[in-house]
Amino acid sequence: MTQPINLLQCGIQWLCQLQPCQLCHSDTQWQHSVCQTCWQQLPWRSQAVQRQEMQIQVTFDYHYPINRIIQQFKYEQQLHYQLLLVGALKQLSYPKIQAIVPMPISTARLTERGYNQSLLLAKGLARHLNVPIWQPVTRLQQHAQKGLSRLERLEDIQQQFQIQNAPKIRFRRVLIVDDVVTTGSSIHALKQQLLKLGCQKVEAVCLASAE
Ligand SMILES: [Zn+2]
Repeated sequence: MTQPINLLQCGIQWLCQLQPCQLCHSDTQWQHSVCQTCWQQLPWRSQAVQRQEMQIQVTFDYHYPINRIIQQFKYEQQLHYQLLLVGALKQLSYPKIQAIVPMPISTARLTERGYNQSLLLAKGLARHLNVPIWQPVTRLQQHAQKGLSRLERLEDIQQQFQIQNAPKIRFRRVLIVDDVVTTGSSIHALKQQLLKLGCQKVEAVCLASAE
């Protein structure tokens, strides 16, 4: 039974490779929708980042063209970049986890944008790691941060994350997926809620880190 599926997959892969690279539009696709040169020239990052006493795995530095690609993926409905971005996340090696928790966005953001970009990334990675998506924490809209002290800002971020009423399923080892990490305060705030839910190990991965 496996042979026809393999043949189909080979066929799809072969057809994809005849398509032009999504970045340079000149060479043909090599993997994850881009050509070999474009893939190699992406601003790959070799080290994890340390934020809020947490080691966060990161694929790229937030430099061109990845910064532009992430902005288009996030704000301009350029969802075809999902192949490239998930493909990049797959390059990392992951600890043993039971579920993936995408960084939640507020209902207001979701209505405005139409999708949660972190959920799209998480879905691709969940398929690759063969684990479910878990979304036990919701996010309220962010208040205007202007004029708030650093401490008030952190408190406000912490309060944005709310545990949903008694989730039926619970996992102990989870991986948070987010697009860009800057201060790491939202990952930290989400982690605190997951710990309250009984998680023992909370890891995090981001596409890119901006200093
Ligand atoms: Zn290319």
